[in-house]
Amino acid sequence: MKTEVGIIGAGPAGLALAHLLQRDGIGCVVLEAQARQHIEERVRAGVLEQGTVDLLNELGLGERMMKQGLMHYGVELRFLGRGHRIDFADLTGGKGVMIYAQHEVIKDLVAARLKTGGEIIFEAKDVAVSGLDSEIPTIRFSQNGIGEELQCDFIAGCDGFHGICRDSIPAGVLKPYERVYPFGWLGILAQAPPASHELIYANHERGFALMSMRSPKISRLYLQCKPEEDLNEWADERIWDELDQRFAMRDGFSLMRGAVLQKGVTGMRSFVVEPMQFGRMFLAGDSAHIVPPTGAKGLNLAVADVRVLAAGFKEFYASRKRDLLGRYSEICLRRVWKVQRFSWWMTSLLHKFESDGEFDRRRQMAELDYVTSSRAGMTTLAENYVGLPME
Ligand SMILES: Cc1cc2nc3c(=O)[nH]c(=O)nc-3n(C[C@H](O)[C@H](O)[C@H](O)COP(=O)(O)OP(=O)(O)OC[C@H]3O[C@@H](n4cnc5c(N)ncnc54)[C@H](O)[C@@H]3O)c2cc1C
Repeated sequence: MKTEVGIIGAGPAGLALAHLLQRDGIGCVVLEAQARQHIEERVRAGVLEQGTVDLLNELGLGERMMKQGLMHYGVELRFLGRGHRIDFADLTGGKGVMIYAQHEVIKDLVAARLKTGGEIIFEAKDVAVSGLDSEIPTIRFSQNGIGEELQCDFIAGCDGFHGICRDSIPAGVLKPYERVYPFGWLGILAQAPPASHELIYANHERGFALMSMRSPKISRLYLQCKPEEDLNEWADERIWDELDQRFAMRDGFSLMRGAVLQKGVTGMRSFVVEPMQFGRMFLAGDSAHIVPPTGAKGLNLAVADVRVLAAGFKEFYASRKRDLLGRYSEICLRRVWKVQRFSWWMTSLLHKFESDGEFDRRRQMAELDYVTSSRAGMTTLAENYVGLPME
């Protein structure tokens, strides 16, 4: 088998890249380790930046998102029992974010690709890459027990944090940068109407909490917890009681409760490798970087990477020039580090750090006061949250 670009991973990065290449008439094959149903039901992110929304619409993939997604033009920061709205539209010239679940994006991207005859090989096993610094990098995998080989001009490593692409690059080429946070998020998906029509980020002395949603009937809620928190100790009622305490307002507030549909604990880390390319393989999305979810950036950053990569491939196939491909890592990393900074900042602004003393708690409250009362402070949050402009 031969193709121009072999894409490993059918997450947001791999599928968005496949659509961008298809639009530009460049051949590609997507290989995915999991079954279609698995990736279409995997509950993850749900906040799409304006730029991600615009790209999905440009590619003709936004029809269901525009009907079922919820456009938000602000968020609330809640601390010391009071709520403070950050008005994105006012602060960013009309921009906002779309609330639309990642697995719904995946469903749309998979369906559109298969409908137009594009290839996605699901349940590809034992995926391995070789010849990365040769003219014909190759992907080997097995399907239904039969070994296959896919020869490519280029490989896009879109296989997430636990994929094989990053580790296939020879030792010493990549430099990792990492911060692991001393807490995680206990997240629930609940059959309960959201208590507010916009997201609420709460800083409470018991720890951080986030109220988000997936639809007008489904809430997505998170609690700061220990990274190794035992879910067995968290009966549904205990979760609701804890959430109520952390979202409490001076003038009263309570969440709408409902059946808990899903429960899980996610660790929090910041991670980047530099560079994001080696020979003819390019890393994109979580395979190259991870952000803590506080800034709602993981999916958006994955999509931003593949926009740069697709532009590089377009230039190459039009002129055989590799100027953009050669600068792929440099261009992406400028955005990656700004997004890392924002995600780290939101995390440190809103979470309780056990190592902090009274001084740090007061400093954190002063920063929240500044961010919610100074137009400059609010603008900094708003323009990062809706998404920095693409280069
Ligand atoms: C559990 C979890 C919860 C999250 N929650 C949030 C959230 O609440 N808010 C937020 O903003 N972000 C969240 N994120 C982050 C966000 O979902 C990711 O940043 C985003 O999915 C990155 O997209 P990606 O395409 O780079 O990687 P992924 O979505 O991870 O896609 C990689 C794909 O590659 C496939 N794959 C892996 N190995 C191989 C292989 N060897 N061969 C072939 N295919 C392979 C995987 O099955 C997967 O489909 C969460 C992430 C996780 C893991």
